Amino acid sequence: MADGKWGHCGSCKFFGSPATAPLEEEEAPCLHPVHVKYRLTVFASNGCTGWELRPGIGAPREAAAPPM
Ligand code: SF4
Repeated sequence: MADGKWGHCGSCKFFGSPATAPLEEEEAPCLHPVHVKYRLTVFASNGCTGWELRPGIGAPREAAAPPM
């Protein structure tokens, strides 16, 4: 997927929340072009390697490395 960077859904442009900066406990559909057919609902605290920076927020630290 994308460039292999892992990031949290809450800072991802594919997180289907109307908020600019979603709260960690928020849930919304994943609108990633590969995932959308599965109709996934994810929490802002979830994440994956399809992450891309959400417009309107700064680059989060979790984008640099996968979780341990
Ligand atoms: S599952 Fe992946 S692509 Fe979908 S919103 Fe979360 S980080 Fe983004």
